[in-house]
Amino acid sequence: FVWWYNGHPDYSSLKPDLRRSDTAVILGQGNVALDVARILLRPTTELASTDIARHALSALEESSIRKVYLVGRRGPVQAALTAKELREVLGIKNLHIRIKETDLSVTPADEEEMKNSRARKRIYELLSKAAAAAGTSEADPDQRELHFVFFRQPDRFLESDERRGHVSGVNLEKTVLESVESRKQIAVGTGEFEDISCSMVLKAIGYKSVPINDLPFDHKKGIVPNVRGRVVSQTSGGIPQTEPGLYVCGWLKRGPVGIIATNLYCAEETVASISEDIEEGACESAKAGSKGLLQLLEERNVKKVDFSEWENIDAKEKQMGSESNKPREKLVTWEDLLAEATN
Ligand code: NAP
Repeated sequence: FVWWYNGHPDYSSLKPDLRRSDTAVILGQGNVALDVARILLRPTTELASTDIARHALSALEESSIRKVYLVGRRGPVQAALTAKELREVLGIKNLHIRIKETDLSVTPADEEEMKNSRARKRIYELLSKAAAAAGTSEADPDQRELHFVFFRQPDRFLESDERRGHVSGVNLEKTVLESVESRKQIAVGTGEFEDISCSMVLKAIGYKSVPINDLPFDHKKGIVPNVRGRVVSQTSGGIPQTEPGLYVCGWLKRGPVGIIATNLYCAEETVASISEDIEEGACESAKAGSKGLLQLLEERNVKKVDFSEWENIDAKEKQMGSESNKPREKLVTWEDLLAEATN
């Protein structure tokens, strides 16, 4: 769904059905869940001046979704959101925020978590403030609604009687938090269940990288083991042995966490390791480098887009965007992208 509204060529023809009912459920309370809620709830007149893909904007203009449930298995203190992203959603025009007052009560363990993390405390305060501002009144008929549902974990999807193979709701189990190790509280099911009716369920419960052939992989953490970006091939006597000329960055290096700026710092660290190794001559005989890569791509007949070709795509998208007051209008098929690259 995220790839669909962002114009990824493999998903631009997804055609999610946004007209079946007025309700969507999103499982997970991280920034991806929040992004998806924002796209479903923000007025399309505002989305129109962003870089959202044209096909998604058209579908959202016709959408009947008015109510979004954001479901978390833990509480407001544990929501995996960041303040800037949350503020953006809470600031959506004409949006009614719903949070049950009982979900906002905190335990001593929650207090402890907030004492140890200013970020968690900030999120809790933002949610409490939004709940207080909305009060207990019902939404006005012209308002859209965002319900933060805490202490619920998904149990199963409910199938529609009228439309086999389509979802009509989601069954949730109530949870309580249990402390497992110092500072960590996990959700435990209580055996009590409830349903939310909806015509769409989206899951946004995080990611896990997959191993690449012949590359060392830590299956538990879902990362390629590394020291400052240098891939660790084995450990000898407790000392990590790095593979000369082999590096990793991004989520494959640290796991699926962090905002864009985190990835910038992460990449800088890996690049610094590469630079140091080049200076010390440690890379020379290790790998064939970019020349080797280009040769391999040619041998395998792989179509590549180099930087200047990417700049052609970038310029075209920006030019198309300027015609409709958007930062860019994305090209959403491989044919169009490749044609523009070599134009
Ligand atoms: P995330 O931050 O890891 O959040 C995942 C959410 O799913 C959490 O609420 C988690 O709850 C829940 N969850 C995980 N497994 C579950 C299960 N089995 N059942 C029910 N709930 C489950 O993942 P994400 O939202 O995909 O984001 C990934 C990273 O990208 C994050 O670091 C995020 O900040 C970043 N990101 C940033 C931006 C931005 O900067 N604008 C936008 C999108 C994403 P628990 O905490 O209980 O596990």
